[in-house]
Amino acid sequence: MNDLNGKIAALLRDFAAIQKSKQTMWGYKRAAAAILALEQPIESLLQPDGTLRKIPNIGPSSTRIILEVLQTGTSATVERAIADSGQTTDIDRRRNLRGHFLSRAEVVAALRNKKLRGPRLPDYHGDLQMHSTWSDGSQTLDAIVEGGLARGYQFCGVTDHSYGLPIAGGISMHQLFEQHRAIDALNEAHRGAFRLIKGIEANIRADGSVDMTREELQHLELVVAAPHSALRSTADQTKRMIAAVNTPGVHILGHPRGRMYGSRPGVAADWDRVFDAAEKAGVAIEIDGDPARQDVDYALAKRAVDAGCLFALDSDAHSTGELQYAETAIAHARLAGVPTDRIVNCWPVDRLLEWLSTRNGR
Ligand SMILES: [Zn+2]
Repeated sequence: MNDLNGKIAALLRDFAAIQKSKQTMWGYKRAAAAILALEQPIESLLQPDGTLRKIPNIGPSSTRIILEVLQTGTSATVERAIADSGQTTDIDRRRNLRGHFLSRAEVVAALRNKKLRGPRLPDYHGDLQMHSTWSDGSQTLDAIVEGGLARGYQFCGVTDHSYGLPIAGGISMHQLFEQHRAIDALNEAHRGAFRLIKGIEANIRADGSVDMTREELQHLELVVAAPHSALRSTADQTKRMIAAVNTPGVHILGHPRGRMYGSRPGVAADWDRVFDAAEKAGVAIEIDGDPARQDVDYALAKRAVDAGCLFALDSDAHSTGELQYAETAIAHARLAGVPTDRIVNCWPVDRLLEWLSTRNGR
């Protein structure tokens, strides 16, 4: 794939990283974000007179870099500045942490590409990882129902952070029961039309156990277990991840690596062994669609397809606008050729609820 949007955004991020002034750094970061969020390839915004159509949040100096890349395939300006900055090691490190990320334009192209197998947008019936005002999200439960219905969903899993992650406003068991009463009321009001699922994003500890007891997990319909620590360590963590998928009550291995665009590699593990264990345990591998995560990506997802795994494609939304991130996950699944019937979000709601309930042993 020759993704100029991704290439230009990466160059603008590199350029941002070597700025001495915070203000110019933020300017280039904003420009990079604007390019990554473009729906169309940047080439299509080039006008016959050689100028670029106006893009919000992109100033004149970013525009010059964009035009340079469009004309020459690279930016001598950025490369020269990096060489002069004495920060080439750091920039190289960042460049190695952008593998298999898709720009929004590539997501749109993958969703439209009829040659790809894998799930289509209408096959997707609901999203199974998101955060509400009960932890670090800004969306209320009502807004999640409205947002889900607006996207044509039949269900959404509310998965606020567990109490073991206070940094993300983890929800106490007391608050969780209160939240469940609110979910019951909403489900009653939308009976037959929409189902909120009582979930949690449990935190995978260093030893692979999750930060909630077996008894506590049984109060939940959906358990996403995800790593939030040791995400920059190069030590092998295969044992940790296998222990996590073998934990009773876990349904989904959420953002399995915990990587972050251009900043951290996430968990190092023998993923084929982790996927084998997940397949045996019946745990779904998540494709997290947050654009900064894209975890697992299509290349790694292909190996989970070969292992026979189930998949969950989720937005990890913290606001209603971010529900769209599910499309990033669907695009990766299409590029990986994930069979639609192996994606739990594409199952009819009754089949999904049955799978959820048999796994938590109630
Ligand atoms: Zn998480």
